[in-house]
Amino acid sequence: MMLKRIYMDANAGAPLLTEVRSAYVAALEERANASSAHAEGRRAREIIESARLEIASAVHAKPENVIFTSGATEAAVLALTGGIQGGDRRPTGCVYIGATEHPCVMAGGRFPAHAVRRLPVDRSGVIDLEELDRTLRAHDSAVGAPLVALMLANNETGVIHPIAEAAQIVRRWGGYLFCDAVQGVGRVAVDIRELGVDLLTLSAHKLGGPQGVGALVTADPELTLPPLLTGGGQERRRRAGTENVAAIAGFGVAAKLADHHLGDMHRVSALRSELEAEILGVSPEAVIFGSEVQRVPNTTLFAVPHFSAATAMIGFDLEGIAVSAGSACSSGKMAASHVLEAMGEPAGRAGVRVSLTSDATAGDVEAFAFAWRAIYGRMRQSRAA
Ligand code: PLP
Repeated sequence: MMLKRIYMDANAGAPLLTEVRSAYVAALEERANASSAHAEGRRAREIIESARLEIASAVHAKPENVIFTSGATEAAVLALTGGIQGGDRRPTGCVYIGATEHPCVMAGGRFPAHAVRRLPVDRSGVIDLEELDRTLRAHDSAVGAPLVALMLANNETGVIHPIAEAAQIVRRWGGYLFCDAVQGVGRVAVDIRELGVDLLTLSAHKLGGPQGVGALVTADPELTLPPLLTGGGQERRRRAGTENVAAIAGFGVAAKLADHHLGDMHRVSALRSELEAEILGVSPEAVIFGSEVQRVPNTTLFAVPHFSAATAMIGFDLEGIAVSAGSACSSGKMAASHVLEAMGEPAGRAGVRVSLTSDATAGDVEAFAFAWRAIYGRMRQSRAA
């Protein structure tokens, strides 16, 4: 008999929503180029512009400030560059990157290595605001304005940074704040104005949209941004290349439904509490990372001292449950977590990440607990042998 699979890896990719699939398939029929002036082209253009409105509204931005990209990775590389300029601030000259950022941000985008610096986090994975203030006070403005990169919610731990407070500090020192909000939208309310950030990135597939589409959203329409892809005049000359109309259509629907999923988060948070109680009930020595601070409601990262997270993840897979060991690694291998290392854990450590989808059920949590009891028992036995 085929085992019913339970998917608990929403932070790697949320399942495609039915409404998204319908919009995606319908838009595939529009074969015209959205830059063409004929009726077919105008129809494709309308699809893009109505998706732009939905995405802008999901984060309370202006539609003209949404730049479609091939995903949050491209959007991060577009944002992480020298020469960004807005208002009376100097252009960006170097970047300060939070130590637990996603690899697409950690890599520093288009900044040369000497212009990339790290910002430490505390043991809970939260940015140290006093250190941020000290760092920016000591910043040499001769190199240009500082760009600070801080994610809204961490993909491994779910830990939320105090972005609005960080934004005030960054502003005080004439800098710019870039926020990777990929794991935040649909899980917590995201308002670009309230956060006070200059640039924000989104990825459709974390919201139940298609893979391979995302956006960079700016707060200020006057912000000038050196394009990453040059050529055609698409996206107001900020991102050249024919738009992926079907993927953008799906992204628009996913963004529209993000508010609806926000409504599920109270229930998801209660399920996460149950799940964590089960983990600690079975394995009292387990550590749940970041549980003492604010996290997005769907994410748990845990580890048991001396137990391999990769072995546990494989155990869950064999029991029919999809979780991950740390973050989904592009090579398909499981790497040690730079996030845990930044939080002061020994190098080489990784945790088991459980990230619930918005339709997770109490039955899923029960099945998880049942599987964990079996996996933990086996791992203890093999350690004792
Ligand atoms: N930022 C965060 C926090 C992520 O979790 C991910 C994907 O795992 C990305 C950025 C990259 O997004 P994309 O897959 O759209 O390039």
